Amino acid sequence: MNDIKKAAQLIRDGKVVAFPTETVYGLGANALDPMAVARIFELKERPAFDPLIVHVSDLEQLYGLTPDRDPRIALLAEAFWPGPLTLVLEKTSHVPDIVTSGLPTVGLRMPDHPVAQELIRRAGCPIAAPSANKFGRISPTEAWHVSKNLPEADYVLDGGPTRVGIESTIIGLRPDGFVILRPGGITREDLLGIIPESSEAPAPGSPEAPGMLASHYSPAKPFYLYSEALAGRIDPSRAGYIRYSGEIPLSFARVITPTQTADLREYATRIFGAMHELEASDVDVLVAQPVPENGIGIAIMDRLRKAAHDWEAGAV
Ligand code: AMP
Ligand code: MG
Repeated sequence: MNDIKKAAQLIRDGKVVAFPTETVYGLGANALDPMAVARIFELKERPAFDPLIVHVSDLEQLYGLTPDRDPRIALLAEAFWPGPLTLVLEKTSHVPDIVTSGLPTVGLRMPDHPVAQELIRRAGCPIAAPSANKFGRISPTEAWHVSKNLPEADYVLDGGPTRVGIESTIIGLRPDGFVILRPGGITREDLLGIIPESSEAPAPGSPEAPGMLASHYSPAKPFYLYSEALAGRIDPSRAGYIRYSGEIPLSFARVITPTQTADLREYATRIFGAMHELEASDVDVLVAQPVPENGIGIAIMDRLRKAAHDWEAGAV
């Protein structure tokens, strides 16, 4: 489970390999091989309209995939790469359409994990990789999360628990600044330290952010955000509670506290793990306490709302 050389050979052979990044585990294939990329969609049961992020090991590789030479790319790369920031840029013809779901743009990032970097370098090609989970389910932050839910992967590289724990921030570049297409590990404030924000807001549901569905990251058991209205509707003796801080409002069967010090970054590293743990436990219902929406809390609440979306709507 930790043979990077073997994993790189598998990628070169057109196979699909799960590997750790600093955000979550990815399900990777040679980004330049459309047949290999097709297997990612197949294994994940991912709809073809949802494009993949391509992972590179250096800027030279990046500039082979985009014709864009906007100087802000180098500024952002200097500040945040390797790290949890994805840039959506015009693509070159080297990038197969299946990777970008037919869009003229490609999402690119340089992951900050020694295993991911070595894998890309040894494979000698950029690696397209979405999170290594079935479409719409909880993202994996440990190797067992992947093995449990995607046993069909050709190989799972184990790099231990991931450091950031939620996905990358995805941005586009407009003439007057950045637009956040998906909140993530790098905050708006982090970005504002380097370049200005655009006055233009991305239209929700636009092809600009095709993967931004209302439901995502969802456990296989009912999952709700805690509220007083919810308290009367659930049986706490059959429910697990993911606590952020403060008093535990009901006698829940299980309680997980991802951070003892109300540290949102620490919470982010553990939230998907807590969801996996409760999903695999004997409770019937999962409840998460909302967290403050500042800094990385914006990305956390984005994930929690999407995980709860279908359950709250009573749609499933
Ligand atoms: P993930 O599932 O975490 O790998 O993230 C993939 C997400 O990145 C997709 O669901 C899209 O929202 C976003 N994405 C990837 N490529 C593009 C692109 N070319 N344009 C806009 N968004 C993209
Ligand atoms: Mg995902």
